[in-house]
Amino acid sequence: MSRPDDADSRRAVPPVICYPVETLPQPDMTALARHRAALEKTDEVRVPPRDAACFRVPAGGAFRISSIEGPQVGDLNLWNAGNLSERFYSGKTRALHGTHVTTGERLWTSFPYLRPMATILEDTLDWYGIDPHGGSVHDVIGTRCDPYTNILLSDGQYHHCCHSNLTRALAAETGLTLEEAESHVHDVLNVFMCTGFTRDTGQYFMKASPVRPGDYLDILAEIDLLGALSACPGGDCSAEHSSDAAACYPLLVEIFSPQAGAAQWPSPSINGYDRSHGVPG
Ligand SMILES: [Zn+2]
Repeated sequence: MSRPDDADSRRAVPPVICYPVETLPQPDMTALARHRAALEKTDEVRVPPRDAACFRVPAGGAFRISSIEGPQVGDLNLWNAGNLSERFYSGKTRALHGTHVTTGERLWTSFPYLRPMATILEDTLDWYGIDPHGGSVHDVIGTRCDPYTNILLSDGQYHHCCHSNLTRALAAETGLTLEEAESHVHDVLNVFMCTGFTRDTGQYFMKASPVRPGDYLDILAEIDLLGALSACPGGDCSAEHSSDAAACYPLLVEIFSPQAGAAQWPSPSINGYDRSHGVPG
């Protein structure tokens, strides 16, 4: 198409933030740090390389995902432990907080619930910021590596993609069939993964994760959570995923719970929309 005469001025219009978040209730990070210090470690789960594992965290508790033996990224799914249809909503979390999440930001649930299910308390990679390639850590822009896209792009059956790892782990944890469990697996929080979009072609890119053993992401459970974490077959995602080529390492998930007798955690209320969608009752 021919370029209009006013193309430059149309392109020069300044951007407007879609969702200004100033009106969101902000977590009181000082109070949360005090609360976190009183929690007691009650469990831990080691996620094997190229596999996934489930864990449960009570409301008011916390979980810590740590790199332990080598650079490794993890694909995280979260559900309301009492209602799997309320699950992490990567797309809306991205719309509210941006492409990558860090300390003080929250993980939101799916419609019609749309409430904070978790709050990030500490991120040892928060120094990374946005690098010269436009990359950053802990993205909510990727989906998860999966066997279907793998067939499209390379025509091979690969069973240890994060999608299949999460499906197997959820089925084993809940007793659901593989087919039922698969329907609950959703777009992930890409823990420790360094990603962005190329400026020239707008393509999703990954680069070697800056994570090192000892780094962690500490997350408060705002509601009772069931989590599943996959140690991605991409390892540190420096080269490829969906194969057994990359060096992969385990991830550690530690669970911290409120002490016996602690006051019940004030979980956020579910969303207040009346759900009439404009149809008179
Ligand atoms: Zn993966």
